[in-house]
Amino acid sequence: MARKPRDCRAVVTALRALRPDILEADLALQDPPRLEFDAGQWVSVPLGGKIVRAYSIASPPARASSITLCADVAPGGPGSRWFRGLAPGTEVRFSGPLGGFVFAHDDPRRALFVAEEIGIVPIRTILGDLRARGIARPMGLVFWGRDPGWLPYDREFRALAQTDPAFSYHPVAQEAEPAWPGVRGGLAEVVEAVASRVEEQVVYVAGGAATIHRVREILMARGRDRKSVKWEKFYG
Ligand SMILES: Cc1cc2nc3c(=O)[nH]c(=O)nc-3n(C[C@H](O)[C@H](O)[C@H](O)COP(=O)(O)OP(=O)(O)OC[C@H]3O[C@@H](n4cnc5c(N)ncnc54)[C@H](O)[C@@H]3O)c2cc1C
Repeated sequence: MARKPRDCRAVVTALRALRPDILEADLALQDPPRLEFDAGQWVSVPLGGKIVRAYSIASPPARASSITLCADVAPGGPGSRWFRGLAPGTEVRFSGPLGGFVFAHDDPRRALFVAEEIGIVPIRTILGDLRARGIARPMGLVFWGRDPGWLPYDREFRALAQTDPAFSYHPVAQEAEPAWPGVRGGLAEVVEAVASRVEEQVVYVAGGAATIHRVREILMARGRDRKSVKWEKFYG
């Protein structure tokens, strides 16, 4: 059942840099003391005037008394500046939970997740939640970044693919050192190849508008219906 979004107040308890321009912030809920949400949902942060920025919740729903946000601050706009300015003790106001980019448990089709760089955030939360609930359906992840440094949590997915035979992981980097163990190039070719192996499939894609558009084009060209692609557009 969809939960009603509400205004929330929280305090920053910790900050981590996954790389110089990808930051995580832990926020301890003050009011309400817990935030119930579905994996894949996001919160809306008012930044003054008409400026608002959305951030997907990067922590598991089971840990409802604090949430983690993870941001690419390279764009350098108001959202990036706000995120960079967070420090332990900073009070944060936001509303949430919002959005319908959540796993459809009643859909029997095989799931393929496609993430472009920071678009991995809601997808990682969904994958973690499925694991925590013991749901081990066959599923795949295509994760693209301009270089391997733009594949946050890559190590985590590699480890998961090694221990869970039902999970197939396809990291792709536009450019990479010769020793990097992944595919080099664009995202489209890999999605094309992975999608062609499975007939009945639902695809969850998160990232920029151009990537979402391209993935939809690929799947439509294969005769899939519009409802077989669920997407979360971060920008563009
Ligand atoms: C539902 C939803 C969930 C989101 N979840 C997250 C999240 O978990 N983490 C996160 O970092 N962002 C997330 N975003 C994007 C976020 O809301 C901001 O748009 C982003 O942080 C940039 O904000 P900004 O004010 O710094 O830059 P803006 O002023 O908004 O953008 C500056 C320029 O950079 C481009 N741009 C914005 N983001 C990127 C990017 N990642 N890569 C390349 N170009 C970009 C914009 O198109 C624009 O041209 C989400 C957006 C939506 C709609």
